[in-house]
Amino acid sequence: MSQFPIRRMRRLRRTQALRRLVQETHLVPSQLVWPLFACHGEGVRREVAALPGVCQTSLDELVKDAERARRLGLGGIILFGLPAAKDATGSEAYDEQGIVQQAARAVKRAVPELLVIGDACLCEYTDHGHCGVVQDGEVDNDASVYLLGKVAVTQARAGIDIVAPSDMMDGRVAGIRKALDAAGFSRVPIMSYAAKMASAFYGPFREAAGSTPQFGDRQSYQMQGTNADEAMREIGLDVEEGADIVMVKPALPCLDLIRRAKQEFGSPLAAYQVSGEYAMIKAAAARSMLDEARRHHPQLFRAGGSRRPLAAREQHGPPHESSHARADHGADPVDGVGVPLPRDQRRSDRACRIHHGSGEASAHQRVHEDRKADTEAADFRSL
Ligand SMILES: [Zn+2]
Repeated sequence: MSQFPIRRMRRLRRTQALRRLVQETHLVPSQLVWPLFACHGEGVRREVAALPGVCQTSLDELVKDAERARRLGLGGIILFGLPAAKDATGSEAYDEQGIVQQAARAVKRAVPELLVIGDACLCEYTDHGHCGVVQDGEVDNDASVYLLGKVAVTQARAGIDIVAPSDMMDGRVAGIRKALDAAGFSRVPIMSYAAKMASAFYGPFREAAGSTPQFGDRQSYQMQGTNADEAMREIGLDVEEGADIVMVKPALPCLDLIRRAKQEFGSPLAAYQVSGEYAMIKAAAARSMLDEARRHHPQLFRAGGSRRPLAAREQHGPPHESSHARADHGADPVDGVGVPLPRDQRRSDRACRIHHGSGEASAHQRVHEDRKADTEAADFRSL
């Protein structure tokens, strides 16, 4: 091999045009999914304190964000819900009139071509904050899977394009597939949170989604961050059970898993850059420790190899307005059969009201929204 001075690696880095020509990994809006948090009420756009730029929005406001997502050419949105009431079994999660189901219908009416993913979990809806049903102080796996099937079917019926279970129960992908197929939704794909590590990085999200566990933690179902082989087994099982897309979460701390998963399974792969990762960047930028406008994470895509992983980001995703190709999909709801609820899982009358303070989109929030658009434009300027 020719060595220096014949081989000079810097030759191809000299100008922007040269660098662009040899760029190996590209970040484009169609690879990104924007998480949105739907709440009841009207005119609500409430910023999450720990996540500047991330808001809980009522459906009228959420539809505006969905329209922006479509204009910006994003890959899609993923919906999380803040219920009107929480109870022991998280019944609003699988209510035909649940907040996510309503949001999906509203978005599909206003922006039918936008891809809509539904987060399928119970933790935002249960009064104990766990991702499943609690029996004798423990999260009951199979009862939880049963309810997740109901969540998936009601979401599909509302027009959701992809169902995304984030709970980490065993067998949930198979259970959800079975429920969807039985209800006539065999064409609705499943994106499983396959290797979801227990992590302090989820803290700010729990404020956004109101899903902090009221006792204990999630280590009996989420994975230990120390175990890469186990992560591959988890992903392999989800693929076998019928997951169409598998996810690794959180993203940047798990680049090794993203790379391994891509090599071992070749399945479409999503990397979730989570709230804590986003909050760190925001906090550092607020202290002028880094230039937020220049942050972007091609590492996620590089680690995923030649096929493009989806990057879902618990953040403000949208790049500048442009005319990127629109996401194509086909999601016309079809009728499904209802799944009966066992006696011990009926809606709890211990349901407690939570307050949403509707109708209070303040001038400050509006100003913030405008500022957000600016930072988003900066965020993607290098595209
Ligand atoms: Zn959950």
